[in-house]
Amino acid sequence: MSDKGKGIYEEVKSKVNKLKEEGGLEREYWDFWKLGCLIKTKVHDSRTIYYDTSREFVERYNEQLIAIREEVVENLDYYVERCINVMRKANNFKVYYAKTNEEAQNIFMDELGDNKVIYKSKSNEVKDIGITDILEKKNITIKETDLGDILVQLFDYKLPSWQIGPGAHFSIDDIVARIKEVHGVEPEPTPNSIVDYYRRTYRKELLNDVKVSLTSANAISAEEGTIVLGENEGNISLLTRATDKHIVVCGIQKIVPTILDAVLVAKIQSRINNVPFNYISLISGPSSTSDIRGINVLGMYGAKEVVVILVDDWRIKALKEDLIYKDYLKCIGCRSCNFVCTAARAFGNIFASKYGWGATAILTDYIHNGIEAITKDGLFFCTNCENCYHWCPVSINLGEILKSIKKEATKAGLCPPPLRDYQQKILKEKNPFK
Ligand code: SF4
Ligand code: SF4
Repeated sequence: MSDKGKGIYEEVKSKVNKLKEEGGLEREYWDFWKLGCLIKTKVHDSRTIYYDTSREFVERYNEQLIAIREEVVENLDYYVERCINVMRKANNFKVYYAKTNEEAQNIFMDELGDNKVIYKSKSNEVKDIGITDILEKKNITIKETDLGDILVQLFDYKLPSWQIGPGAHFSIDDIVARIKEVHGVEPEPTPNSIVDYYRRTYRKELLNDVKVSLTSANAISAEEGTIVLGENEGNISLLTRATDKHIVVCGIQKIVPTILDAVLVAKIQSRINNVPFNYISLISGPSSTSDIRGINVLGMYGAKEVVVILVDDWRIKALKEDLIYKDYLKCIGCRSCNFVCTAARAFGNIFASKYGWGATAILTDYIHNGIEAITKDGLFFCTNCENCYHWCPVSINLGEILKSIKKEATKAGLCPPPLRDYQQKILKEKNPFK
């Protein structure tokens, strides 16, 4: 094993020890999250609410969804071109095609112009594309608008957090104390009064002050050039309407053939996570009116300008070169594979990267930062149980992909010593326990 390998192994071991510490935020979050997994996969699966369980719903549409994703991935160039044409010519979107993440970041900074504040939401993919990093580097103030992300900012919490409920581990008393410390106001220690505090204060700001807002997209339809955004809080609806400029940054794999396909993707994302999409926005252009002598003018009450940055980076290459993570292009970004992942349940936020929790986040780190990064993120925690594969609504076998990456890591001398010992015993003694 190389010195580098030993160093990485020690680093991962110390993260495991930290996770075991009682009273630490890592531990607290992890315990909370395990409970959340049970709730997500069991309790809410109730036929008393819908006539089917969320699993039955996903299975009913499984084949249709796989067909949609395969159609797009197999004809990605065609759908990208078609989508861009419609968005530009029919929908008055300003559309960019960025070949790399770096190009996307530069385009984004040009579009941001002199603005020093950005309001954002629905932005896991924005993080993957490096927009968050560049904003931080350039000292742009990032105003999160989803309450979970607002709490993460409030506490200045830097560890990777679960994408579906990033602030779920903060106690009510701690939230109240922190609001008092930061904002000088002390709401009642109840969820209602905390929510009411943000509604009274932050909502006004969102309605009055937003020059530029940033989101990703749940899906984009090629036929209509429509951006689909699902949410439960109403922040995305406010942001995308009450802003001068709405910038959408997302990977080209988010494109689907039609608006009905896009809504199906959003519905599956909502049902599989048991998260209600109280609002689904279908955005097909900037706000406009033709009420004055039939002349079309952009920017009535909603956004004056909608800018879409579609990003390729690794995607076309993965397809053309048949890379091991090519199947990841079919991912709809529901992030629900975490609920059933044995490694995520056992190791919580140390089977994670700066892109979030779980296998998708560590795979993203591999794609951008390589083999050492993914080994540090806990690659070898994956048990290859394939729960993710059986759960995934598009049947992506993340376990199989990680197995191939483990082989690569082993060849590079990064396999953890206990596993290497087993390997030696098997090779020499034909018995791992001798
Ligand atoms: S791999 Fe599958 S389950 Fe995981 S986030 Fe993607 S679509 Fe969802
Ligand atoms: S195969 Fe690996 S990534 Fe998939 S559920 Fe099992 S432990 Fe998690």
